[in-house]
Order: sequence, then C-alpha cells, then structure tokens
Amino acid sequence: MDKSIYLDYAAATPLDSRVLRAMQPYFGKEFYNPSATYLAARSVRQALEKARAQIAVHLGARPAEIIFTAGATEANNLAIQGLMKNYPDGEVLVSAIEHESVLAPAKLFKSKLMPVDKRGIVDLEKLEAMVNDQTVLVSVGLINNELGVIQPLGEISQILNKLSKSRQTRGVKNPLYLHTDAAQAGNWLDLHVSRLGVDLLSLNGGKLYGPKQSGVLYVRAGVKLEPLVLGGGQEFGLRSGTENVPSAIGLATALYIAQKERRVQSEKITALREDFESELSLRLPKAKINGQARHRAPHILSVTFPGVDNERLMMQLDEAGIQAAVGSACSASSDEPSHVLGAIGLSEAAARSTLRFSFGRFTTSMDIAKTISRLAQFTDSTN
Ligand code: PLP
Repeated sequence: MDKSIYLDYAAATPLDSRVLRAMQPYFGKEFYNPSATYLAARSVRQALEKARAQIAVHLGARPAEIIFTAGATEANNLAIQGLMKNYPDGEVLVSAIEHESVLAPAKLFKSKLMPVDKRGIVDLEKLEAMVNDQTVLVSVGLINNELGVIQPLGEISQILNKLSKSRQTRGVKNPLYLHTDAAQAGNWLDLHVSRLGVDLLSLNGGKLYGPKQSGVLYVRAGVKLEPLVLGGGQEFGLRSGTENVPSAIGLATALYIAQKERRVQSEKITALREDFESELSLRLPKAKINGQARHRAPHILSVTFPGVDNERLMMQLDEAGIQAAVGSACSASSDEPSHVLGAIGLSEAAARSTLRFSFGRFTTSMDIAKTISRLAQFTDSTN
C-alpha cells in the first residue's frame, strides 16, 4: 500500500519537530518543580511564565488571564462549571452544535440550546430573544469541528453588550459573559480576545501540531471562576497540581508557529479544499457538502453521500490507506448520529451517510485526487 493519506487533521495533528525540540529540555535536565525555590527551579518557573506571556500576546491578553489546562475539554469545563457554580440561579445558553465538552457541563446547570440555521450559523435573532435576565453565560464555538463554519462572534458580542447595558439601566445584577471554544481555530484565525469580543476562550495544542492534553483557558480579568481541581493553588488558584511545563512550552511554541504561518496555510488549504469540492461535484454529483456558510474554516469539509453507509465507506477508505472521520473523533465511540448534522436539519439517514474530511500542513493535491478517485469507486453504484 502507498503511504497513507491522512484527512483527519480536525481530530489530531502530528507534533511539529520544532515544538518537540522546545519541549525536550523540560523532560530532562530542566525537570524541576516550578514552585520550588532553589535557583535551578526558578529558571523552570521563568520558562513557564514566558510560555504564558507568549500565549497571552497571541490572545491580546494579560499573562494573569491565561490558565493552563490539560486540553480544551478541561478548559471548556472550567469555563462553564467554574463560572456557573457562582450563579446557582443563573442560566447558560449554548449553541446546538457545540462540542460535547461544552454541552455536557452546560447540562449540569439551567441551560438552553440555541438553534442554528441550515448552514450551521447561530440564529442571532433567536439568540437575542433567548437571553433573559438570568442568563450569565453564552457559549458559542468559533469554528465548528464537524462543519468548519465560523460563527459571527463579533456580532454575538455586540448583541450581548447591548443587553448588558439594558440590564445596567434596569439595575439587574447578573453579568452576561461570552465564552468561545476556539479549539479548531488556532491554525486559521486571529485569536485576539478583544477583537473577538469574548470574556473566556478555550484553546488546545493537540490541533496545532502541539502536544495533546495541552491547553489554556483565557479568563478576562474580573470574571470570577470557582476552581474544579483543588489543592496547592497553582494557576492562580484555578487549577491545582504541579504544572505540566513541557506541555505549556509546547503549546506556546505551537501557537507561535501556527499564528505566524496561518495566512500562508489558510491560502494553501483553502485552495486544496476548493479543488476537493469541485472534483467532488464533477465526479460524484449526488454528494452534498454541509455547512456552506460564507465564512468557513479552510480545513474542514463535511460531505453527505446519499444512500451510502458512512461507517462502511470510512472502512473502505481506511483499507485503501485513506483516513477520514465519521463525525467528530470525540463522539465516534457513540453510535448516535451526529447532533451537529441533526441541528442543521439532516435526517438520521443523511447523517449516517456523512463523512468529515479535514486537511492540514502535509495534505497535497495528489492526496485529494487519489481520495476523489477512491470515493468515486466506492460509491459507484449509487452515484
Ligand atoms: N472542542 C472542539 C471544537 C474540538 O474539536 C475538540 C477536539 O476534538 C475539543 C473541544 C476537545 O479538545 P481536547 O481533546 O483537547 O480536550
């Protein structure tokens, strides 16, 4: 078999060798606990704080607003549970297409799901109508991990600001915060929190050619969270436990590279995705692309192949050396059809005929051409 063709970059990216090199000393001779006070440990503390400051620069934040976590799942949990524990009567609004790591903690509190339109964009009018004086948190992912749709966070933030001002004039005490899960966005978008208009932002390294289980939660100064993990009080009291220094350094390095290269990579990957789409419409005219919003991430393509069983097609591709995903890897263990595809109006049958292809740094035009040929071959009888 030829070298395999990896089309699942939205699930995981390989570690960049520059990131590995930056991390390596902290597994070896720089192994000290950053909280120890002798000189050797102090330099490890400095390296950790430098990583925090570097990440803060990319987010347009202050270092004290950056909390290291073990990935985006934990960051999302800390954002939602950490905030909502302070507002037992408060309500959280999340979009219907959020990742499970947002949906599951939201369900622990009074929560409502905001609908999206058939492209996967949050319905702004409905959002405005759904916010009431009990709403404390609105959580909308920046790039959806199954559709690649980019949400209009700036507009959402403006609506929430307007509603906050009206609360102030009416003497309503509850704050109204905006959280975004930006786990799919670091390779492609500007992450400046003030430009996005968010109060909380989750990010991970595992999608950025950095280490898995590396991540941060940005928490705007003044937003009060309850910690989920108690102990020695590390990470400003929000996440106890000896810091994972190599992971923090890996994330900072990966984010630096990703943000530096994002324009070039976006252009390259958008062109590949467009080639994929046009070849698909020529050779498999019945295939349907989901989430065709004007603002889409370069790297994700969700395709429905009517009448085709997605598990079977995924396995046929796998045998031919092509790795694609049935929905998101995170929910792949469950047999339920994707809640994201359901939310944009796909029937269960259509959802079970849908695959996600996602592209990255090492995807080539040859990979695209070979994949289209295989898709044409495997779905032949129905196309
Ligand atoms: N949020 C989104 C949008 C994701 O795509 C993922 C991973 O697939 C996560 C959260 C979970 O990230 P992690 O695996 O770092 O916990």
